[in-house]
Amino acid sequence: MTNQAIEDLKTYVGGLQDLGHVMGLLSWDMETQMPPAAADSRGKQMGILSELHHQRATADTLKHLLETAEATGSNAPVDKALLREVRRHYDHATKLPQAFVSELTEVTAKAHHVWVEARQKQDFSLFEPLLTKIVAMNRQQADYLGWEGSPLNALMDLFEPGLTVDEVDRLFNQLRAPLVQLVQAIGNSPHHATWPFDNERFAEAQQKELTVKVLETMGFDFKRGRLDKAPHPFCTNFSINDVRLTSRYHEEDPFSALLTAMHEGGHGLVEQQADMALERTPLPGATLGIHESQSRLYENILGRSLAFWTYLTPAIKAMYPECAAMQRLEAQDIFRLVNRVKPSFIRVESDEVTYNLHIMLRYELEKALIENQLQVADLPAAWNEKMQAYLGITPPNDSQGVLQDVHWSGGMIGYFPTYTLGNLYSAQFWHTANQDNPTLNSDIEQGKLAVLTQWLRDKIHRHGQVDLPAGIVQRVTGQALNAHYFLDYLWDKYTPLYQLSETPSYKTTVS
Ligand code: ZN
Repeated sequence: MTNQAIEDLKTYVGGLQDLGHVMGLLSWDMETQMPPAAADSRGKQMGILSELHHQRATADTLKHLLETAEATGSNAPVDKALLREVRRHYDHATKLPQAFVSELTEVTAKAHHVWVEARQKQDFSLFEPLLTKIVAMNRQQADYLGWEGSPLNALMDLFEPGLTVDEVDRLFNQLRAPLVQLVQAIGNSPHHATWPFDNERFAEAQQKELTVKVLETMGFDFKRGRLDKAPHPFCTNFSINDVRLTSRYHEEDPFSALLTAMHEGGHGLVEQQADMALERTPLPGATLGIHESQSRLYENILGRSLAFWTYLTPAIKAMYPECAAMQRLEAQDIFRLVNRVKPSFIRVESDEVTYNLHIMLRYELEKALIENQLQVADLPAAWNEKMQAYLGITPPNDSQGVLQDVHWSGGMIGYFPTYTLGNLYSAQFWHTANQDNPTLNSDIEQGKLAVLTQWLRDKIHRHGQVDLPAGIVQRVTGQALNAHYFLDYLWDKYTPLYQLSETPSYKTTVS
């Protein structure tokens, strides 16, 4: 029996989804195809569409349809999730006064330009007044949305529903000391791999051919998706049956484009493998954290594993028969090359060991700013102090420090933790995947990557956002999120790679 009120709501929400996807398609086109001279006209086209979208998303018609559907008290999991998500979006869209939204749009548009200039001139003081305004407006936004405990809870909820400061603090407190210890231990190790290529060039065409082969082996369906080039790689989709990946190629590095595409392919599979019954609802896909767990699982846990390179090394050597340096490499050598660890100033260039310390630093500063414990003027010094404490290096200027990320200029505070959550989820899912598939490692060595993809489809992707992240982790792994899975993954991998003799601190302290 179908419930008419739910069906009516679905029809309306389906139209909203369509509108959002048309805007997504225009954005994809801007990043991959559009000639630069079209920027102005495209801006106007996007403007009118986003106005239409906002009208529909805040209309009384939607309010009425939603309240009627809620009154049915339907207990079907998909209905409940649909009502939950539509309610969340409606509340977010209607709780903020229109004047506030317009002002925030204006301030962040200006802040972006000023941030670009400040970064160029390595001068934080140019950006400081606007960042001060953005922090104040974010606090105001938290008040409009309503919060308990910390105003940061309301802001993080926009990016990862249900995430709280208490939960992030609990996880980051587990992570901090063992990560700092691991970074130091690796730094002290004499066993660092040296880059074997000098002037060799790896042509884009060959890199792309290998990338497509790996994506197909992963189970990415090119009849329902594409791979294109973009300067800042991303994944987007306009339907469960239309998923677009992008990657970029560095001709001096034969591995980075592949790993980037595996990352985006992980995002793509989340979308492609959703149940078709969820099409045209807000339910396919995943929250930012769960999404990132899948991309990082493919990029790091799979793409940087010895098992994967045992499978792929013959293929990559066959791709470059003329390259003597490549011909000398064995799986173990490539495994070492793609897992080089070195503290760096820039988050997006960092490896999987140091990465989370970059995130922790940002989260701690955001929390202090939003809770009024830190003034924006003191931010650069606080940043540099934490860089020294966590990674043992101090940025030579603000461009390589506090000014490096675009997020704050865009008004996004509370976003960063979702990246580390992704890493934590991925290691815990990986642990369960191996328990459920005891031959997974040898399957991967033989190139049977679809074994992993099918498991992820059944356990995670097909259900989309029917459950919230905490519910997904509990359902799939049988317990709440625990940072020890990620720590075990890192220490077990890097101890032999760098021939470490240290015992991780979290294994000797009683907790
Ligand atoms: Zn990602």
